[in-house]
Amino acid sequence: MTDTTDHNLSLFHHAQALIPGGVNSPVRAFRAVGGTPSFITRGQGAYLWDADGRRLIDYIGSWGPMILGHGHPAVLEAVHRAVALGLSFGAPTERESELAEAIMRHVPSIERLRLVSSGTEAGMSAIRLARGATGRSKIVKFNGCYHGHADALLVKAGSGLATFGHATSAGVPEVVVQDTLVLEYNDVAQLEAAFALHGDKIACVIMEPIAGNMNFVRASVPFMRAARALCTKHGALLIIDEVMTGFRVALGGAQSLYAKEIAGFQPDLTMLGKVVGGGMPLAAFGGRRDVMEQLAPLGPVYQAGTLSGNPVATACGLATLREVGKPGFYAALAERTRALITGLAQAAKAEGVPFCGDSEGGMMGYFLLPALPGNYPEVLQSDGARFNRFFHGLLDRGIYTAPALYEAGFVSAAHTGEDIATTVAAAREVFRELAN
Ligand SMILES: *Cc1c(COP(=O)(O)O)cnc(C)c1O
Repeated sequence: MTDTTDHNLSLFHHAQALIPGGVNSPVRAFRAVGGTPSFITRGQGAYLWDADGRRLIDYIGSWGPMILGHGHPAVLEAVHRAVALGLSFGAPTERESELAEAIMRHVPSIERLRLVSSGTEAGMSAIRLARGATGRSKIVKFNGCYHGHADALLVKAGSGLATFGHATSAGVPEVVVQDTLVLEYNDVAQLEAAFALHGDKIACVIMEPIAGNMNFVRASVPFMRAARALCTKHGALLIIDEVMTGFRVALGGAQSLYAKEIAGFQPDLTMLGKVVGGGMPLAAFGGRRDVMEQLAPLGPVYQAGTLSGNPVATACGLATLREVGKPGFYAALAERTRALITGLAQAAKAEGVPFCGDSEGGMMGYFLLPALPGNYPEVLQSDGARFNRFFHGLLDRGIYTAPALYEAGFVSAAHTGEDIATTVAAAREVFRELAN
């Protein structure tokens, strides 16, 4: 178990007396892995410093946004300039259009888009829009995918294809989730059967193209192809949730990778967040013009936000997109990320520990399993206790990774070859401990 310093521990005690669990988002509390969370005082480049002044190599990157690393000078300059001109106006600004254009330049399926403040809001709004535009109520989501904490999404599968979901959170009435059908990820036959049964009532299928909320699981090409074809055939909308993958796995998001494999592939709606805000509270949803124009004030689907398109957040997002749009950015990032996964795999093999990993762009995942899982039940076959020992072994050595085995990891452009080598060397020591 990680040695917790007096500072981290006392800050955690103080926070627990004020904030439920001491945190403002549950996974930060280290409940899955045990121990005391590191309280962060500063970030620079690939590093964080905790309350005791310990330097950590950061592979969480604020759960995805910090693709340039912390404190990138061009981003800070843009934010400082925006702050000096005012924090919020509640009126349109030119920069909102500039950011919309920057996004659309790289993600051609987005013909119109709206800015919001979180991925949760993007998901909730995209689903309302899909229901409003189709005049249908039922939605399909997949086991292990996360699209934010809107009521209709906090749901686990019913007992069969004919039955809809059950709430996974207290406070969500059954009536709110009874139109949510939860299916297994990468299961084409089940998706076909669901459409055969409910096709004329399904408003949308929502999915992560590379699921990063069950660690790292890719949608297979046949699965993605089937989802697109079934939605088209039955008049449902395909919503690709790129809150994590957008501007993270490639400049055009994961959808650009599937478009290389599936001729003409495009989602109807896309959700963005995390990298698109560069670390500020900013997210977006967008897609087909005819669908997006169903939104108020043009159409009957209501959606709004006091801080939507906030001028400081748009400055941060625009500056970030400018950097990631430079030639060669993703090739270099992908190479660094692959080097980490390859290094970890070699270290595990040398110590005789089962390990497999995968990565795309600056997003990665690894399992202490002999083969990559393809869906959530397979992810659950991971040995949680072993994962927790691996996590704490790394943290003890100054390597900050996600404190739960259901989370993807992130490499930034600020991580150096030396950071990767340091991480692999630390992991090798931990693998040796795990093998004994
Ligand atoms: C993080 C995430 C969300 C939720 O975004 P928030 O900004 O945390 O509300 C939605 N979908 C995916 C795929 C995510 O990774």
